[in-house]
Amino acid sequence: MLESLRNIVQQVNAAKDFGEVLRLIVQLVKEVMDTGMCSVYLYSPSTNSYVLMATDGLNPNSVGKVHLSSREGLVGLVASRAEPINLEEAEAHPNFAFFPETGEERFRSFLGAPIIHHRKVLGVLVVQQQDRRRFDESEESFLVTVSAQLAGVIAHADATGELDQLLNPQQAVIHERIYPGVASAPGVAIGTVVVISSPADLKAVPMRKVSDTDAELALFRHAMEQTKTDIRALDQTMVNKLSEEERALFDVYVRMLDDHSMGGEVLSLIREGFCAQSAWSQVVLGHIRLFKSMQDAYLRERASDVEDLGRRVLAYLQQSEVKRTVFPERMVMIGEELSAASFADVPLENVAAIVSVKGSRNSHMAILGRAIGIPTVMGVIDLPWGRLDGEEVIVDGHTGQVIVSPRDELLQAYTQQIYEEKLLAADLEKLTDKPCVTADGHHVSLWVNTGLRLDSMLSLDRGAEGVGLYRTEIPFLMLDRFPSEEEQRKAYREHLEMFAPRTVTMRTLDIGGDKDLPYFPIEEENPFLGWRGIRICLDHPEIFLVQLRAMMRASEGLNNLSILLPMISNVPELESALQLIYQVYDELTEEEGYQIEMPNVGAMIEVPAAVYQIRELARRVDFLSVGTNDLTQYLLAVDRNNPRVADLYHACHPSVLRALLAISEGARGECTPVSVCGEMAGDPIGAVLLMALGFRVLSMSATNLLKVKAILRQVSLVEATKLLEEVMLMPDADSVWRHMEKALKKPDLAALFRGTAMH
Ligand code: PEP
Ligand code: MG
Repeated sequence: MLESLRNIVQQVNAAKDFGEVLRLIVQLVKEVMDTGMCSVYLYSPSTNSYVLMATDGLNPNSVGKVHLSSREGLVGLVASRAEPINLEEAEAHPNFAFFPETGEERFRSFLGAPIIHHRKVLGVLVVQQQDRRRFDESEESFLVTVSAQLAGVIAHADATGELDQLLNPQQAVIHERIYPGVASAPGVAIGTVVVISSPADLKAVPMRKVSDTDAELALFRHAMEQTKTDIRALDQTMVNKLSEEERALFDVYVRMLDDHSMGGEVLSLIREGFCAQSAWSQVVLGHIRLFKSMQDAYLRERASDVEDLGRRVLAYLQQSEVKRTVFPERMVMIGEELSAASFADVPLENVAAIVSVKGSRNSHMAILGRAIGIPTVMGVIDLPWGRLDGEEVIVDGHTGQVIVSPRDELLQAYTQQIYEEKLLAADLEKLTDKPCVTADGHHVSLWVNTGLRLDSMLSLDRGAEGVGLYRTEIPFLMLDRFPSEEEQRKAYREHLEMFAPRTVTMRTLDIGGDKDLPYFPIEEENPFLGWRGIRICLDHPEIFLVQLRAMMRASEGLNNLSILLPMISNVPELESALQLIYQVYDELTEEEGYQIEMPNVGAMIEVPAAVYQIRELARRVDFLSVGTNDLTQYLLAVDRNNPRVADLYHACHPSVLRALLAISEGARGECTPVSVCGEMAGDPIGAVLLMALGFRVLSMSATNLLKVKAILRQVSLVEATKLLEEVMLMPDADSVWRHMEKALKKPDLAALFRGTAMH
């Protein structure tokens, strides 16, 4: 059964479109289960019924014509109960209904499994049998397994519009498509797509057209020759290591590149106007699909050889690629998995929006988007991004939608919204020099989170009172090796000078998790629970000590440096880090003669274990800073990067609020100052809650600073405390959120709540 399932999955993956997927499923399931017929019914929202969409065994002319409501027939019963039904004698069941147009009268037994995606019944997969037959348990679970696999494919077809087209073929084709993702940085933008692809990734190459076909042909031929030379050289080095037969594979490789094989197909695509990289990737991916769908296990394995060959040639093509120098004025950066490094090759001032297929609202790319105030949508899993280069799209960072080929009316509505948001921003700017004091006179310090040069400049414009979190790993991410002590010192000095005399809280290197340095790759099954933050720094004192030296030397004469330690999960870790900090300080001041004041040292509270040891940790440091992004992920066991569980990630969860209260009370008990530097602090509702919880220093993305100031100036601490008391009794995040929103959404503040962080 497992082998048959694998075969079905492989063939389905190789299908050219959704219609073919359905046809293949019914044909293969019928074959494997050796039964009389197999059919798929899919839910059509426009008719609120289940429509026969593919069959092998019923009258093919009835496809698209048989509609069943959820109360009709056995199919309706499977759908409404959302569980499989297995009947030896279908006719005897009270729900049995007969549809003459299908030719169904021949069948007696029935097995139906619902197709469910994210709790929604999308359709029903049915097998029937002429003779009386009781499908056994293994057959039932086989059908359920196929249904579960099919569900993901149907959901994807739904998102891309293929399902709608299949269900309503008579409808005029609507070009506009709305792809849902996770709203990650507020604002909307209309712009032209530039696809950012990672090197030698065949799937990441967009379908680009070019005018100079001859140049592309020459480029391709050159890459072919270089690859052939490589393979022949490889073949020679293997003379004594591999047998003749084994080495024959190299010959096959070389022949595959010939004009009458894959090479030829590529040449024709280039002649049609596609660039060499696009043509090559398309052809190779087609061949990989073909190999993967083969019955023979040996041939199936060859798919990885083709992939390897594909990557080699692509690498050559990318090497000779002329770096793109002209970018659209308002560009929408789209990629499968964008990271800070993706900014390296594009002019930041042209970036109007950021869209990433992977990741979620607290991925570091999203945080960067918020830091520099660029509308960002993450986790747009169904986006056909490879085909969008050069298209005009709308990116709505409030709702998390990416709209491809928008209608004129929609474009107009969004143009108006962009205009209104500009007005709001201009209005907020008037608050820049005003203090952040509540209606009843309590001061809350608003600090900023930085990492890029641009967000630091923005922070100064917005009247930040200090830097609560400088993510030092961001400059590390942009390089191709660890920066030297002097390089780091210069970068830190620039930052410290920019803000002096205000405090700059520099966090020591927090890599691992979703922040992988290209030159220090960490392969782990579970990176967020693995080698991350302070754990790496303590294991690599040579990296940690250099960074500490650079920070302290940079602060000479300015003395506005604070050092923050990430991911502290126990006391010995904190003590070891403190010891290294004192060691560096002594070396610099006593042995090397630097005149430096000992910086304040703090610990991040972002791991649940630290919450329960808050007093022990507080006692050992000068200050604490709460990282609500990680604290929420670890408390709720919800990956901050995974769009599938983004709905479960909520900093308003009552457990998170209770943890925050424990932190605030514990720190106060030890008289240790405590701030919050997670994204919750930059959210208008989050900020009000945090103030009521006792936090008086909030550090956030520069773009949120004025919004937060606007709301805090309008509420009183008394009002916020009363709201907190009320929500602390509530059972879930949504109730908390709704209650706060209702209480705070006064007409003149409504615009501040658009696409706010935690919802
Ligand atoms: C946090 O975890 O809340 C935090 C501020 O750190 P980062 O987002 O960089 O992990
Ligand atoms: Mg963190």
